[in-house]
Formats: sequence, structure tokens, C-alpha cells
Amino acid sequence: MRLLAARSPLQEVELKLSEPTSYDVLIDIEACGVCRTDLHVLDAELAGLHYPITPGHEVVGIVSACGPLVERFGIGDRVGVPWLAFTCGVCDYCRRGEENLCPQARFTGYTRDGGYAQQMLADARYCLPLPLERPAGELAPLLCAGLIGYRAYSKAVEVEAGGGNAGAGANLGIYGFGAAAHLIAQVARHEGRRVFAFTREGDEAGQRFARSLGAVWAGASSMAPPEPLDAVLIFAPVGALIPAALTAVRPGGRVVCAGIHMSDVPTFPYRLLWGERTLCSVANLTRADGEAFLAIAARLALKATIERFELDEANRALDRLRRGELTGAAVLEVAAGRLRACKRDT
Ligand SMILES: [Zn+2]
Ligand SMILES: [Zn+2]
Repeated sequence: MRLLAARSPLQEVELKLSEPTSYDVLIDIEACGVCRTDLHVLDAELAGLHYPITPGHEVVGIVSACGPLVERFGIGDRVGVPWLAFTCGVCDYCRRGEENLCPQARFTGYTRDGGYAQQMLADARYCLPLPLERPAGELAPLLCAGLIGYRAYSKAVEVEAGGGNAGAGANLGIYGFGAAAHLIAQVARHEGRRVFAFTREGDEAGQRFARSLGAVWAGASSMAPPEPLDAVLIFAPVGALIPAALTAVRPGGRVVCAGIHMSDVPTFPYRLLWGERTLCSVANLTRADGEAFLAIAARLALKATIERFELDEANRALDRLRRGELTGAAVLEVAAGRLRACKRDT
């Protein structure tokens, strides 16, 4: 399913992929998660977009061919293809272990074709090993919602190291209770934190969903939480949530913006930031983040709540995400039978 131009529905396009060269693997895709970032790609809200592009950066699939330099994976291995698709390896950021900030980085489903497809090519050095035992659809949301959500969460609770108290028993606020939040809430609860969930006005289903995952409080993002928060994650792409979150967080607390794009931030009085509150963003992921988070997801047996769609229903899945109608994460599943039939034809 290709995006041929900005702000247009995805179209079914037949493409013949080349044989994998150098570090690339050819992957028979089983499932691909639908992420809010895909809407920003559709809406041309990210710099440097070129069309046509195949979106999708939460890809689960089986390696079906390997380039000559691939060492880590073999045919038949299940891999995950996350957002980070390539880094230069030699710039200051890469050398400092901040490859997520590499200016030469490429990204799956944004600057390199992604997983809204039956097959894709990916650089094996940036793929993550996945277990074959679990359903592909349930693994897909871990690859961005979970992974980048966890990077944001780690930054939020890092306050501990600075002498603050965002540790066990601490109050963690989450604005936007979708795919990322529903996974991170499970981690936070496991670590003994108390989750306060903020949803769109009137989204009672979302608030019930948050409570079912252990949130101690759930309400509209316009509401004040019943207690001051130690740290806040903002997953919703709404700039107006920044002053709201700074109001909700205690002095010394931290607000972390996890999305790649947000609407403009309204001006706000300096007193909201005063009191050693910090405000920061999280960009992309490193390969180390991927390995660390997948280990945690396996150890805690994180459960993704998913809504399944056929690959050719990608536009419907994106519409439901845009309207805030999903509970948990949308996942496109590629029927294995259809893939085999297609391969026979070619
Ligand atoms: Zn670099
Ligand atoms: Zn994503």
C-alpha cells in the first residue's frame, strides 16, 4: 500500500523488489503496526518526505533471502523492522552512542520503504530478532509504540538519578492513551508506579481501557489530576498539552514529549516551567534501545491489545486511528496464504 502524494489515500501498487544486496534482507511480512507517525507521513508533516513511499515501521516478518554481507540472520528467522533503518556510524552522534540523532539516519516507512506491504527489504544490522512462538500481530506494536514509548518512559523516570523522586510509588501521567501508553502503563505498574491517564474529552472507552490496565485515575486532558505528578509522558500530538502537563507536574518533575510532530505549542507563563521542572523530547531510537526493550517486553510478558486489519484495509485503519476510535493498536496482517499465492504468480 503506497502513498503516491501527500494527503491522499494509500493505493495498492504492484512492485517488484530487487534481490537483497550488501547488508539487506528480503522479508516476507506477516504483520505491520499502524503508528501515529504514519499519519504525519500521510499529512506531509515531516521534513524531507519524498513520494511515493510505503509507510509502516512496526514490521514483523520472516527472512526469505539475505544479501552477501548479512551475518546475523538467516532464511526462516523472524525479524522486526523498527523505525531506525540506517545510521552513518562515523558522525559524532553515532560515536557517542546517540545514533538516534545521526543526521544521516534513514527511517523505515519515511525515508525508506516500510512494511505496509507483502515484502520489503531492510538493512539486517538494524533489524531486531523476534521469537517465532508469539503471534506476529501482537509483536508489531512493540516495535515503535513500545520501543519509543519506553525510551520516553526511561527519560521521564530518569529524574530519580538527579535526586528527584520518580521511583516506585511515584505518580506518572500519560497524555494520549493509545498504542504506546497501553504498553508503557504495564511497565510502569510493574515497577510500582501509579499511572494517571489523560484522554480526549469524552473518551470514556479510552478511560475505561486505561483503568483496566491499572491506571489509578483516568480523565480528560483538560482536567487536573487529583494529585501532583512526578513525571508526565505526552504521546498525543497536541502542543497545548505541554502547558497542561507542566501545570500537572510537581516542582522538579519532568515532562517528556514522545511524538515526532506536534501542533504548535501555545505561549505559557514561565512560572509553569519554574521550580526546576524539565521539558524534553524523545527522538527516534537506538539499536540498544530496541534490544533492551524487547528483553523487558519478554520478561514482563507485555500484552498488546490490537485491532486487526487486512493489508488492503490500511486506509480504514489509519482513519480509525485519526478519529481516536482504536482501543490499543491497529495492526495490518498479511495473510500467509495470499502471500504464497502471490509468490507463485511471480
Ligand atoms: Zn551518524
Ligand atoms: Zn511509530
